[in-house]
Amino acid sequence: MNKYDSDRILDLVRPIGYVATDKAADADCYVLNTCHIREKATDKVYHDIGRLKKEFRNKKKPMLLVTGCVAQAENAEMLKREKYIDGVVGPQSYHQIPDIIKNIENEKNKVNSTEFEVIEKFDSLNLVKNSNSKISSFLTIQEGCDKFCHFCVVPYTRGPEHSRSLDEIIIEAKQLIENGSKEITLLGQNVNAYQYKNKINTYRLADLIIELSKLKKLKRIRYTTSHPNDVTKDLIEAHKSCEKLMPILHLPVQSGSSKILNAMNRKHNILEYCKIINDLKKVKPGIKFSSDFIIGYPGETEDDFNQTLSLIKKIKFINSYSFIYSSRPGTPASKLNDIDSNISKKRLVKLQTLLEKNNSKSKEEFLNKTTEVLFENKISNEDKYFGRDKFLNSVIVQSKKNLTGKILDIKINAYNRNSLFGKIFVTH
Ligand code: SF4
Repeated sequence: MNKYDSDRILDLVRPIGYVATDKAADADCYVLNTCHIREKATDKVYHDIGRLKKEFRNKKKPMLLVTGCVAQAENAEMLKREKYIDGVVGPQSYHQIPDIIKNIENEKNKVNSTEFEVIEKFDSLNLVKNSNSKISSFLTIQEGCDKFCHFCVVPYTRGPEHSRSLDEIIIEAKQLIENGSKEITLLGQNVNAYQYKNKINTYRLADLIIELSKLKKLKRIRYTTSHPNDVTKDLIEAHKSCEKLMPILHLPVQSGSSKILNAMNRKHNILEYCKIINDLKKVKPGIKFSSDFIIGYPGETEDDFNQTLSLIKKIKFINSYSFIYSSRPGTPASKLNDIDSNISKKRLVKLQTLLEKNNSKSKEEFLNKTTEVLFENKISNEDKYFGRDKFLNSVIVQSKKNLTGKILDIKINAYNRNSLFGKIFVTH
């Protein structure tokens, strides 16, 4: 979502004369768009600012805005601690950046803009065309979260759930398609909690996917990130009926132990999670799953951890994310006692080895088979093109012809840890 937000910030500042530069050392204005999901995020911001100060020691100081969730969490503290910062702007206030920049240019005032103004933000963004011209684009449809998992800062930094209207999403999707996008990933902190009511109807994620699938030039639809409790029957049905909806679902589970899930306030248990997976497999044979895992959550025993390993073996997750639990200030879990960090480290290695084995096995299964790939770009200085198959595997193919934007069947003849490699088989 930060990538989407950064692109939209660029769209917003273009009319006041600012463009992105490759030459960072010449920039007039820096926007450090930050994420607060892991610890040390704040340290990283100050480290980056230290680097900037050095770089600009003998030059005119650039304007510096810190945006995103670190800005939201730290707000006025940042301005007090680091005089080099000109403004802190929360993720729900970044539509104000053009005014903030002008204000700083003219009056040199420091700005703290960290209110939750999500409706106003999207109203402003709707007035500015999305200029992203990537083959595969992100589109934020929902923000914020009301779930309050005990380890997570998102409900405090992104605020309560808000869903954009169906119409404004369709308009933005059409802009992206006009710009050349063939794949759209719908984004939300809790994307499948999407719910928009107008005077007549209530639209959920499944309705939105079906509406988007009617756009002829849009070939692929994905969505992320989902919560298991919001995987509704209509969404499962959409996986069956909508060919454009890709057959991989990122469905964070965090732990394989129902006891730990309860402690995390995840509001679902493992039986319920497995039922969702089975229901999806029934309607969409061949669908694959990826997930997020937190290792060493306070209270996690060896038995809890083994249940996580068993779940990974059972579901055969691919392309998953795993981290050692890190306490975030202000969350309920931050009041709990951490477990021994050496135990957590050992568990993480074990878990990642298993996930890696799954990945490798899943890639091996593609050998001598074809997989449909949407090509996104040329690899610089090489006659090679990069694309993704339906399962989000990165695929690399040698070609002198321009493949960007093409959907081709690729016969896979090799793989490594990160990618599949192959040759063109059939053009669609
Ligand atoms: S559902 Fe996701 S975003 Fe919401 S509190 Fe839980 S982990 Fe955070």
